[in-house]
Amino acid sequence: MEDKTKRKLSRREFLRLAGLGLGTAAVATTAAAPQSAPAARKMSKAEFSDPAGRPKRPWWVKTVDEPTTEIDYNVYERFSEQTVTVRGPGLGIHGGADLPGQLAESGAKLKAERLANGTPGYSHKDQAIYNAQMWDLRGETYFLGPQKADTPETLGVPKWTGTPEEAAKMLRAAMRHFGAATVTIHKLTDDTRKFIYSHDPDGKELIFTDEEQAYEDENARYIPKKCEWVVCYAMQMSAETLRRSPTHTACQTTLATYGRSRRTQGVTQEFLRGLGYQALGEASINALAVTPAYAVLSGMGEMGRMNRVITPEYGPMVRIFKIITDLPLAEDKPIDAGIMEFCKSCKKCAEACPSGALSFEDEPTWQIAGGWNVPGHKAWFEDAVKCMTYWNGTSTNNCTICFAVCPFSKEDKAWIHDWVRFGIATMPALDGFYRSMDDAFGYGVQADPEEWWNLDLPEYGFSTDASVLEG
Ligand code: SF4
Ligand code: SF4
Repeated sequence: MEDKTKRKLSRREFLRLAGLGLGTAAVATTAAAPQSAPAARKMSKAEFSDPAGRPKRPWWVKTVDEPTTEIDYNVYERFSEQTVTVRGPGLGIHGGADLPGQLAESGAKLKAERLANGTPGYSHKDQAIYNAQMWDLRGETYFLGPQKADTPETLGVPKWTGTPEEAAKMLRAAMRHFGAATVTIHKLTDDTRKFIYSHDPDGKELIFTDEEQAYEDENARYIPKKCEWVVCYAMQMSAETLRRSPTHTACQTTLATYGRSRRTQGVTQEFLRGLGYQALGEASINALAVTPAYAVLSGMGEMGRMNRVITPEYGPMVRIFKIITDLPLAEDKPIDAGIMEFCKSCKKCAEACPSGALSFEDEPTWQIAGGWNVPGHKAWFEDAVKCMTYWNGTSTNNCTICFAVCPFSKEDKAWIHDWVRFGIATMPALDGFYRSMDDAFGYGVQADPEEWWNLDLPEYGFSTDASVLEG
């Protein structure tokens, strides 16, 4: 039977389609867009024209009232991060009590073999760089923040006040300087408060309170209802590095991003404290709330087939985090950039996934794949036990092949990329064609891990300017 998910083009077919597709795209561009493809934004000292400091986005990113992910708040319920996801004890709950131990044993054996053999991507130096990044993750991170910086009381000044737009603009400026690639804001409602976990990864309950001040004790963390603003921030990963997934060489960039996020969270908490406001953060990795939900509600990106957020500016090459504050902020709307629509015909991540964890269904569904998913939203639900089994069994405890092959992951500014990105936002019928072009240009092919050590990459392995496009 023909595999409809594979689209291998002959040279003749490709050239024919290229002529057809680009011709059609050009017509659309003439009708609805600037005359030339968007170009990379250069370093600029221009001031934001938006009163809330929202950066100009590509013109094909539309703000909408409802996110492209459908949500049924009558069904969706708060859940425990500790027992429902497979990042902790949930793996044993969903995959069988013996599974974590078996994977730890087989992963350690494989790791030792590769170390002894000097396997590229898993050799001594590769494991050393991975372990170094892992060390950085052991630093402390706090629900209530470090609480060291001066407050308005200790400075002898009133708390900072301004309009929600002024506050959002100020916070964006600060967080960009702290390392955030993008910052988007959602104002909580009774419905969207459900995306705050019932329990953190360490088992502490998260409880909403009418009290003024957040606090925590041995059993719980208390979130004042007046803390209504969720600030989502994205931290870039190195796409060039992740092209070597799932090796240690590649996956260390993921760890690096988590490490940098901890500092960004801490200094943002101290910044808000200095202004006289509360800032509640992650007490450990992936704590506090379902970040992708708030990232989608606030327009940072859309959910894709890999069941992760894909941003227009950086694709999936980010890790996303959140802080909840009582500083009133101008909120942001969801977006539709054609990303979820593109995923319906792309399926590149599902084809590349070595564990078969990702869905090949054309449409997202309300039907969850297992107890690790939470019903009440429409998605391409993944088999998280298969994914985590591969992670732990590969000895890197990580993977992200799906991120690396995604057509939205390019950092370069090749013309094809820009054409693709505005074409998919306007003409879903061409999505299959663009996916074919992505294949034909050789994107998504995994790179040599040994070569990585010879590359002249910028700081952190990514450009802070390269992925931002003019509107
Ligand atoms: S991280 Fe790896 S195993 Fe998991 S879904 Fe992505 S490609 Fe598959
Ligand atoms: S690889 Fe394709 S299907 Fe998968 S998330 Fe990226 S665009 Fe969507």
